[in-house]
Amino acid sequence: MPHSPPQVIRSIAELRQVITAARRAGQRIGVVPTMGALHPGHLSLVAAAERECDLVVVTIFVNPTQFGPHEDFQKYPRTLDRDLALMSAHRVDVVFTPAVEDMYPPGAATMIEVAGAAEPWEGACRPGHFRGVATIVLKLFNLTQPDVAYFGRKDLQQTLVVRQMVRDLDVPVEVRVCPTIREADGLAMSSRNAYLSADDRRAALVLSRALFHGAELVRGGEHDARRVLAAMHKLIAGEPRVKLEYLAIVDPVTMAEVGQIDSLAYAIVAARVGTTRLIDNEPLGG
Ligand code: AMP
Repeated sequence: MPHSPPQVIRSIAELRQVITAARRAGQRIGVVPTMGALHPGHLSLVAAAERECDLVVVTIFVNPTQFGPHEDFQKYPRTLDRDLALMSAHRVDVVFTPAVEDMYPPGAATMIEVAGAAEPWEGACRPGHFRGVATIVLKLFNLTQPDVAYFGRKDLQQTLVVRQMVRDLDVPVEVRVCPTIREADGLAMSSRNAYLSADDRRAALVLSRALFHGAELVRGGEHDARRVLAAMHKLIAGEPRVKLEYLAIVDPVTMAEVGQIDSLAYAIVAARVGTTRLIDNEPLGG
């Protein structure tokens, strides 16, 4: 049965009215924070919210504070009409898509800084990124007052940063992490895949292939992280279009590197393919 289209809300005041009414009615609110340019990865989060919540809120906001000065904030794809069409296969009640000036009005002076798991890897490659993420996620939580918030494991470190913030600041929200959705050939879906040229798209495949190869080695009994990493490095080195930023095997809670893969760990990777920066990860062992 077709769903009625979502209410598209740009104003904070209007959102607050809808949320207040839903809370009064005792509805379970689910939020899916996104930057738009939706793909099946995002829609899998929407589907989970649809199953578990009475009021499904999707936020679409390209958040300037999580982009570095030389990153792709300006050129990030903004495709609201297409996003709304994609959502029509789901029961989405509200799409909240505020203006930058409303989320960061002149005089805004508070940012959320998460230490620990936010520091290595993405935190080191993209200084200030997780400060922007934590700040916008907390603002969106305060505005949408969700019972449950849905995030993708594709951004593994982001999920740890959000969980840490929720714990430390006593935010009354359940954080749900959903599996990574991939293209048929293995490439992790990402709004940034749209930037890839045909040659880059082919080359980018080596990242998921390396992750799967690592997982295969661990399944086959190899528990030495150094040896697994060496095999993965060898594969990626065969693809000259791919410039590795990091490749590591890390603890699923602290993001610290592990030497032995005795329980669940994640292989994580970030690389530039042409001018496009991609990240991916895959669980190993556990
Ligand atoms: P973004 O629009 O890139 O900020 O992503 C919004 C949410 O969708 C985040 O929680 C992402 O982790 C999640 N997401 C992005 N790509 C995927 C994917 N391929 N599979 C599952 N979740 C994803």
